Amino acid sequence: MLDVIIIGSGPFGISLAAHAVSNNLKYKLFGYPMDFWSNQMPQEMFIRTPQDFVSFSDSNDRLTIHQFSEETGTELMTPLPRPIFVEYANWFAQKAGIEFTPELITQVTYKNGVYEAVSQTGERHLAKNVIVATGVEHYKYLPNFLKEFSPNLVSHTSGYTNFSQFKGKKVVVLGSGQSAWEAAGLLHRDGADVELIYRKQGPNYAGSRENEIALRDLGDIFYKLPSEEKKEEWGQSPGSIAYFLKPYVEGLVPQNKEVEIEKIEQINEDEIRLVLSNGTEKIVNHIIAATGFHINVDKVPFFDQELLSTIEREEDYSQFPKLNVSFESSLPGLYFAGPLSSHSHGPTFRFILGLKKTAFSIIPSIVKKSNDSFVKN
Ligand SMILES: Cc1cc2nc3c(=O)[nH]c(=O)nc-3n(C[C@H](O)[C@H](O)[C@H](O)COP(=O)(O)OP(=O)(O)OC[C@H]3O[C@@H](n4cnc5c(N)ncnc54)[C@H](O)[C@@H]3O)c2cc1C
Repeated sequence: MLDVIIIGSGPFGISLAAHAVSNNLKYKLFGYPMDFWSNQMPQEMFIRTPQDFVSFSDSNDRLTIHQFSEETGTELMTPLPRPIFVEYANWFAQKAGIEFTPELITQVTYKNGVYEAVSQTGERHLAKNVIVATGVEHYKYLPNFLKEFSPNLVSHTSGYTNFSQFKGKKVVVLGSGQSAWEAAGLLHRDGADVELIYRKQGPNYAGSRENEIALRDLGDIFYKLPSEEKKEEWGQSPGSIAYFLKPYVEGLVPQNKEVEIEKIEQINEDEIRLVLSNGTEKIVNHIIAATGFHINVDKVPFFDQELLSTIEREEDYSQFPKLNVSFESSLPGLYFAGPLSSHSHGPTFRFILGLKKTAFSIIPSIVKKSNDSFVKN
């Protein structure tokens, strides 16, 4: 029987596994290593987080991105290109002695204090604890009025590694956050006739060191804040854009500000007609929805209804599990890391910034339980 199964081999899962290794826990880490960052994002873009805040976490916090740079001679540019971040992840995993099990988990059930996880090959794995660290990929959000269109006319930003297929096409990007700017900048560079449509008055550029420090510090205190203050933090709009994207868009990609799509219809196989709220009409070949992700525990694909119904939810936010200070749900031994923990623990945990506190909270909780049960037995 394993001490812990970690589902998801992204930055959170890999850091959790590093802590499991150094605490001599019997673990398995499922998922294709860094799949989201390697295969589901535009390859040529940058990480928005400044390099001082992108390190993974090991028990001694020695395997930092700066250590990686020194040992491998890799230059750390600003902003940091995604491929270098993925190289760092591979170096970290190897140095921390992490073993991956590169398979997806298809089912998790819980009976008599034991979790059973079934992997793609049909193999069954038993563990006392499970950590869900599956990121955002199950929560892509498309507004209802776009859902009726086929994928060759409408798609979500997530999943594109490049936009070269849109060369010479008329494309609208819907949204005003980081992913909208990334998509618009890359579409323009790849030869698409692209424009942006959004409701806000203008883009909100951000991303200073001070912002990162404030967000990191918020993660340390959020859980114990009075609920009024928590509500204020949840209410903050996440739609800011890193400054470094400004030159990729401003002056190059037309922006239709303070408008909505009022009418939309397919006019032939590869064209859609849009009427905007300011009366403008546009005929385009494709709409890319940079409309983000709606986190929802009910969409985790490997939980069945029975297990989901036993997970207590946050008051008024039933899409989030209610977690204790150690990121554990009401189901003993079931932990959530990353976006699904971001209601109980705050917005920091939607970002890499939150992985250190997550690992230093979850793994000691599992170690303590395992020591307590050893003493009892
Ligand atoms: C375009 C984009 C850019 C971003 N840029 C930044 C940034 O610059 N800085 C930042 O802090 N955050 C950024 N984020 C947020 C980012 O997703 C998180 O910070 C980070 O990836 C969280 O790590 P994670 O391990 O929780 O998730 P992920 O990196 O998504 O890793 C989760 C992994 O779980 C795997 N998985 C899913 N289901 C299963 C299953 N059933 N079995 C096994 N494995 C499974 C997935 O394939 C995935 O590889 C960005 C998000 C997007 C969409």
